[in-house]
Amino acid sequence: MRTADRIANLPPYLFAEIDRKKEAKQAQGIDVISLGIGDPDMPTPNNIVEAMQKATENPKNHQYPSYFGAKRYRDACSEWMKGRFDVDVDADTEVLALIGSKEGIAHVFLAFVDPGDYTLVPGCGYPVYHTGGILCGGQTWWMPMTEENDFLADFESTPPEVLAKAKMMFLSYPNNPTSAIATPEYFDKAIAFAKKHDLLLIHDNAYSEIGFDGYRPPSLLERPGAKDVAIELFSCSKAYNMTGWRIAFAAGNPAAIKALGTVKSNIDSGAFTAVQDAAIEALTGPQDIVFEMSDVYQRRRDIVMEALGNIGIEARVPKGTIYVWAKVPEGYDSAAFATKVLEEANVIVAPGNAYGPSGEGYIRISLATPDDRLEEAIERIKNTL
Ligand SMILES: *Cc1c(COP(=O)(O)O)cnc(C)c1O
Repeated sequence: MRTADRIANLPPYLFAEIDRKKEAKQAQGIDVISLGIGDPDMPTPNNIVEAMQKATENPKNHQYPSYFGAKRYRDACSEWMKGRFDVDVDADTEVLALIGSKEGIAHVFLAFVDPGDYTLVPGCGYPVYHTGGILCGGQTWWMPMTEENDFLADFESTPPEVLAKAKMMFLSYPNNPTSAIATPEYFDKAIAFAKKHDLLLIHDNAYSEIGFDGYRPPSLLERPGAKDVAIELFSCSKAYNMTGWRIAFAAGNPAAIKALGTVKSNIDSGAFTAVQDAAIEALTGPQDIVFEMSDVYQRRRDIVMEALGNIGIEARVPKGTIYVWAKVPEGYDSAAFATKVLEEANVIVAPGNAYGPSGEGYIRISLATPDDRLEEAIERIKNTL
């Protein structure tokens, strides 16, 4: 049997070597601490779990879901957008339920990208912005992200021959992996650029609910004219500790929402309606969780920033997300430093180049780790340096 080229064309899984070493160490009984994973360590709040328990008892929820999401779920998403951002989106034409935002990211390529077409992708970012393109024969243009441009992806330097074949542009702020945040002016420029070059702009707002020091991340759809060119992805995963539940939504430009819905209706049959009911509770129930979780991550951020400062590793102070993006010390690249930390300190950090070319020279430290483990991990790294 012969697999398709698109499988061979996927980049190698950069954590494969790290995973292999981790498993070998664990087999020897060594305690390995992982700061590599972006998955909240705390459970889903009780009110959401209870809503799910009740929802599974409803026989109507046992049948095929609606392709575009239950009307009551889309209404809740629309009301949440209004309450949270003062953004109006029509529940019937401008909201689409997703089985996690990863699913939406992967499928939007099928709706917009023909073989050979380009997608403008952040120089370091969520891996599916790149691999989703490869799986449908598209090409990636990496937009440079540097400390000098505050990790705001530089779309303006995209060459004309790439723009002539470009269909979509991804942005994501607060940013995974750099934890950078965007300014309203940057969003406005991105919207104007997408209009000028006839691109769909996709803003992945996976960390919309995780902000520090009083910062509350905005929606791109707050900006004038955004809905003419953009959709935005929101997810219950990081906001409500619901990564395992697989529930998110897309909101924005109705033509793009319709195209993505058309792809989905031919591939999946929608998110389990009981999960949508649980997500309604997340979006419309008490929002204390959002502030409590931001406080927890902020405290951990402070632990990590102080410890990194003490050992001479540079990092910008994050205003959001669950990551610290730190520079590797002189004399190392991302992979070499991540390997050293694993081999000598038994700590896993994510090598920055796993997220794209702009990530070289950095590591990503996840704050989704209990405080005591985080402190011990940093102490161990200190002892190796
Ligand atoms: C975690 C993450 C996702 C995936 O979220 P799901 O809704 O769980 O699929 C997408 N984008 C970014 C930037 C993420 O960090």
